[in-house]
Amino acid sequence: MRVLIVEDEVDLADSLADGLRGEGYLVDVVHDGAAALVKAGQVDVDIMILDRDLPELRGDVVCRTLRDQQHPMRILMLTAAGTLDDRVAGLDLGADDYLAKPFAYVELLARLRALARRATESNQIVLSSGDVRLDTLRRVAERDGRPLALTPKEFGVLESLLYADGGHVHPDDLLADVWENPADRNRSVVKLTIHTLRRKLGDPDVIRTSPGVGYRIEARA
Ligand code: CA
Repeated sequence: MRVLIVEDEVDLADSLADGLRGEGYLVDVVHDGAAALVKAGQVDVDIMILDRDLPELRGDVVCRTLRDQQHPMRILMLTAAGTLDDRVAGLDLGADDYLAKPFAYVELLARLRALARRATESNQIVLSSGDVRLDTLRRVAERDGRPLALTPKEFGVLESLLYADGGHVHPDDLLADVWENPADRNRSVVKLTIHTLRRKLGDPDVIRTSPGVGYRIEARA
């Protein structure tokens, strides 16, 4: 489940991103509306957490633009204005849900889980390559019908590789997708996680390594 956080308060955006990565979400962060629209066109975002009060291109405009483009992502709008009128306006703009700031983190998580369930109704629930399958809703992975006991990081890496659908994923992108505080980490944790993930996936090896380019998954059914 890939979440895009659009929030101009950098500290809030970063702490949300760290928390959600810890919950096993793949997370991207941008700090303005224009960047949000660009990112939404580049990656398959399942859920956008969208601050309504953004500088320049406002959250309302971002929301309406995405809906005009018939983008299938779910949108959870955050706003400091929590009155009933604002709530109705946000939903009228095409937001799927609405949360007033300041909010309790546990409530945000609950809303996200609800949106994730709805997102999977229209998006892909199961990612696969050959005999490797990953169920993003039930959070289980298996190979040739055999369940894999993966750590949250191994699961996240496998999910990223499967999302790329045979394309390469650079270790820095895996760091950004899966780890909290990616800036404090280095690629050795990615290498180690790939190593243990490979071992758990078993033979024949399905993770290809291209030095300087990244990793990709290629499994036969
Ligand atoms: Ca703001």
